[in-house]
Amino acid sequence: MKVQKEQSMLRQKQMLADHFEALSRAKESGRKVVYTFVPGNLTELIYTFDMLPVYPEINALQSGMRQRSRDLIRGAEETGYPEDVCSYVKCDIGMMLQGNVGPTGQVLPPPDLLLLSYTGCFVFMKWFENLKQLYPDAEIAMLHIPYQGDGSIEPGAVQYIVDQLEREVIPKCERVSGKKFDYGELAARLDLSGQAEELLSEVFDSARHTPSPIDAYFGGVYYVGPIFTAFRGSEQCVGYYRELLDEVNARVAAGQGPVTPEGPMVQENFRLVIEGPPNWTHFRDFWKLFYQQGAVVVGSSYTGVGGVYSDGFRHSGAQPLRSLAEYCLGCYTNRSLPQRIDLLADYITRYRADGLLVNSIKSCNSFSAGQLVMMRELEDRLEIPVGFIETDLVDPRYYSYSNIKNRLDSFFQMLEQRQSLGAGREVVA
Ligand code: SF4
Repeated sequence: MKVQKEQSMLRQKQMLADHFEALSRAKESGRKVVYTFVPGNLTELIYTFDMLPVYPEINALQSGMRQRSRDLIRGAEETGYPEDVCSYVKCDIGMMLQGNVGPTGQVLPPPDLLLLSYTGCFVFMKWFENLKQLYPDAEIAMLHIPYQGDGSIEPGAVQYIVDQLEREVIPKCERVSGKKFDYGELAARLDLSGQAEELLSEVFDSARHTPSPIDAYFGGVYYVGPIFTAFRGSEQCVGYYRELLDEVNARVAAGQGPVTPEGPMVQENFRLVIEGPPNWTHFRDFWKLFYQQGAVVVGSSYTGVGGVYSDGFRHSGAQPLRSLAEYCLGCYTNRSLPQRIDLLADYITRYRADGLLVNSIKSCNSFSAGQLVMMRELEDRLEIPVGFIETDLVDPRYYSYSNIKNRLDSFFQMLEQRQSLGAGREVVA
């Protein structure tokens, strides 16, 4: 089967290929390399110092999609990492132990700086502690982001982060890159980020239409690609999102649904909101279980992991360091359970979802805890059908096709019965 792709997808593929190419030439071009995480990333700041970012989770998920993660995980387990450790970590460590050959087949350069933005997940810290052992020559900088445990940003939290940026992160970036910090350049980059985020928000908000012109989960992981990875704060990123929004608007005008790997979705039967990341090792099979039933995802929490924009946050060059701090604080991973519930409730009502599905990640002990509580709370509050499945990010041992299919079939039957009983939804064109 020839996989159907939107023009923006092809453009993104090329952007990523160019980035990996630049990484493979980092030594000869003299550019320093920063390993950092997607949630709370400081991409604009990294580029202000003309350094190149590497995101371990992106390498892991790309390895998963290319069927390489099984061997990499096994390699890490053979050196003593237990089975229930986060599979992103093992995939990443396994990749480094086997020569640090990235998902595109090119060797990735070692880090000059390990920049740990600590947002919500304790594993991030242990992950980089392990990387520091593998790369003892790399500098390490930690940016501590206070968790929104009480459901709001504590007074002083923004200033606390700004102080760390000024005293710890920026001086280390200057030292590693040999370049003086340029406040004006950072501000200009943040303004570009704000423009791209505005366009991305319009893309996600198009799910208010029926049929929805987008799939906010399976398509959504492509939509967030440039903003979650190496391109935030660039003209290229803004250009990508303009093109994407044009594509989406054209589908709205034509009354079309999202593009799936087998072409445009013809019939929208169910609208879902999903909590939890997708499975990467069987991504297309997993997606097919939905689109072959006419199920389209109109909202997902996963696409907020690298930044939540649906509540109006935009990076801005007006107060650059405060803007970075507010961004880090607001990432989905840094929000409390009640905040995550409210966000999902907002998506369910705003996009008139028929049901909520939780995809719990077997080896993500950080975010799977609490998902059943969230699901029950939303079921009671909104009287909406809910479903629960379990897969993994990049460990194929935890993907059971028949198990997931059975559960999804029951879930879709439940939605169908409810629709036949008259709990249908109004149509907004
Ligand atoms: S949030 Fe989950 S998947 Fe991400 S690093 Fe933490 S444990 Fe791993």
